[in-house]
Amino acid sequence: MRLTTAGSARNIEEAIVGRITTQNLPDATRGQYIRFFAEGEAPILDFAGYRAILSHADLATDYPVVDRLRESEHFRDGDVVVVERDGFVRSLYRSYERHHSLFVTERCSSNCLMCSQPPKDKDDVESLTKRNQELIRLMSPAPEYLTITGGEPTLLGDHLFELIDQLKTSLPNTELHMLTNGRTFAWPEYTRQFAAIEHPNLCLGVPLYSDCAGDHDYVVQAKGAFDQTVAGLHQAARNGIRVEVRVVLHRLTIPRLTRLVEYIYRNLSFVEHVALMGLEYVGYTPRNIAELWIDPFDYQAELERAVNYLVMRNMTVSIYNHQLCVLRQSLWPYAQKSISDWKNLYLTECEKCSALEDCGGLFKWAVKKHSEHIHPL
Ligand code: SF4
Repeated sequence: MRLTTAGSARNIEEAIVGRITTQNLPDATRGQYIRFFAEGEAPILDFAGYRAILSHADLATDYPVVDRLRESEHFRDGDVVVVERDGFVRSLYRSYERHHSLFVTERCSSNCLMCSQPPKDKDDVESLTKRNQELIRLMSPAPEYLTITGGEPTLLGDHLFELIDQLKTSLPNTELHMLTNGRTFAWPEYTRQFAAIEHPNLCLGVPLYSDCAGDHDYVVQAKGAFDQTVAGLHQAARNGIRVEVRVVLHRLTIPRLTRLVEYIYRNLSFVEHVALMGLEYVGYTPRNIAELWIDPFDYQAELERAVNYLVMRNMTVSIYNHQLCVLRQSLWPYAQKSISDWKNLYLTECEKCSALEDCGGLFKWAVKKHSEHIHPL
């Protein structure tokens, strides 16, 4: 499913966040809406009060507008979008989807070999925080789950506290999952401030790639990261913050996978969930593929051993981003449909598969690289 389209922008001084409508609304109710005219529709030139206008046709107007829009079949009434000064229109919230996220920064303090969203060193904190504050106001109906992601969210400093506080007030029943490298939580004062927000339904998702500090530091390309992350996990737990550990499975993490889950059980027993995740062929991964790639079919024994180890000790474990036809059948109960709708794909062979309904499929970028053992069941 498409997330972005573009056209010719005029009269837009800064990014505009708003809710799509295809209706001619009464003047008094237009305040949060962006009026969208679908392809072939003749625009009615009454634009007063809308935040912006989107149109396929050329428009002569002094209002903020993106016209000569390329694609728009993915827009639905109620979608929240951001209209950029350069004419890009990005979808931020579609209530009918299963997965929702708040992208808070492109900056990161790590530089993982398989990062799916390679960090950029640009100061986007103010602009993205403003965008996200408005997005939270417009999220309706409230999502059941919301992932805070980046980059590294803790690099927002106080702005992160403000966002979580706003989420606590505006979307109190939404379960928050924040993806973080966990390193900032090593600082006791930071973690105390984070915990003091007392969000009732928040869990950190923290990656840990090895029980061996040097191996973890190599994967995240940051010396000392293992010590900080482990200290951060302990500080979080000490302050009552829930944590999940995430392990991306590839050639560098598979050899010590059993030792890593043992380490988690013995040293991080407070972890409420361990997610064992398939590699995404996007971001940095293609350029590091020679070092990272192992066909998931070839690590089934290690994966089964790790899952069994955790299950036998009453720890909750899930497998993300794996196809049922590649997983051993004993692992199927732990496989989740974890791939967001907009990046989810099934191959031609999946059409004949009896497990299609239960299988999470592949990332759309997996068409270029995936297990050689995918076959209909
Ligand atoms: S063939 Fe496709 S739908 Fe069937 S299990 Fe494999 S990946 Fe899933």
